[in-house]
Amino acid sequence: MTIQHIFVIGAGTMGNGIAQTAATSGYIVSCMDVQPAALEKAKAVIEKSTAKLLEKSALTKEQKAKAETIQFVTNLDRAQEADLLIEAATENPEVKFKIFEDMDAAARPGVILASNTSSISITKIAAATKRPDKVIGMHFMNPVPLMKLVEVIRGLGTSDETTRTVADVCKTMGKEPVEANDSPGFISNRILCPMINEAIFALQENVGTPEAIDAVMKLGMNHPMGPLTLADLIGLDVVLYVMEILQRDLGEDKYRPAPLLRKMVDAGYLGRKSGRGFYNYK
Ligand code: NAD
Repeated sequence: MTIQHIFVIGAGTMGNGIAQTAATSGYIVSCMDVQPAALEKAKAVIEKSTAKLLEKSALTKEQKAKAETIQFVTNLDRAQEADLLIEAATENPEVKFKIFEDMDAAARPGVILASNTSSISITKIAAATKRPDKVIGMHFMNPVPLMKLVEVIRGLGTSDETTRTVADVCKTMGKEPVEANDSPGFISNRILCPMINEAIFALQENVGTPEAIDAVMKLGMNHPMGPLTLADLIGLDVVLYVMEILQRDLGEDKYRPAPLLRKMVDAGYLGRKSGRGFYNYK
């Protein structure tokens, strides 16, 4: 099936980035959210982002104009026109299972249903539909317009054809698809979150200050930013949630969340979004 129209569900941080990148790559795009305020915000974020990319000559005027054609909607009525649906809604299993049931009912038969989930099993999400061979993970990275990787996650029943089609879409969007099998945390969070968690253990055990821990990883390992700065960017609640899933689903204590991480989340120190994490942003 030729993919022309992409329907994005969820217009938050990731959804608006996916919608923007799909549109500037030439796709017809609809972007749906249950919160009208999220759609208003997405419009403004996309306008600002494309204006900045145009200024840097990273986008053409025509590409920016394509982003202005995104249709913002509050229901799945137009999903039947779409050739690919990408879900990027709130990271909550029950919310996602219900959305996939609704996507399955709304989309034409044979259309691929993708999820941008960071941690929920693609096989379980697929089981909420009657087309598990057409369900796949498309794990974009934040910020979507800038980051090259899309982790493409195959559920137990995902077909080769679905995987190939989605890989081609990623390439058309200027991304590098990398295939992973369905396992807690996939490849990215299985490796990234334990590294961040270990940095938090090191801080808690007074091995170094936050600045020293970040400097070692930046200057010594050539990471673009230190693990604690990155944790603040991702959100400490998200890091904790992923560690809990790794510990529970892989059943190993080596994934135990650092007590300091849990304490900071309890205190509401979630990183940049709350104004305070390992660093102060106020
Ligand atoms: P977000 O909170 O910024 O946005 C989620 C949006 O989903 C909200 O606007 C909310 O109104 C909407 N939503 C909730 N229920 C809905 C429904 N039933 N139908 C339609 N919309 C609904 O979240 P986000 O950071 O954009 O994350 C979205 C997904 O992407 C999650 O699965 C997350 O794990 C994944 N992800 C996030 C990042 C990141 O860095 N933020 C990176 C990779 C993957």
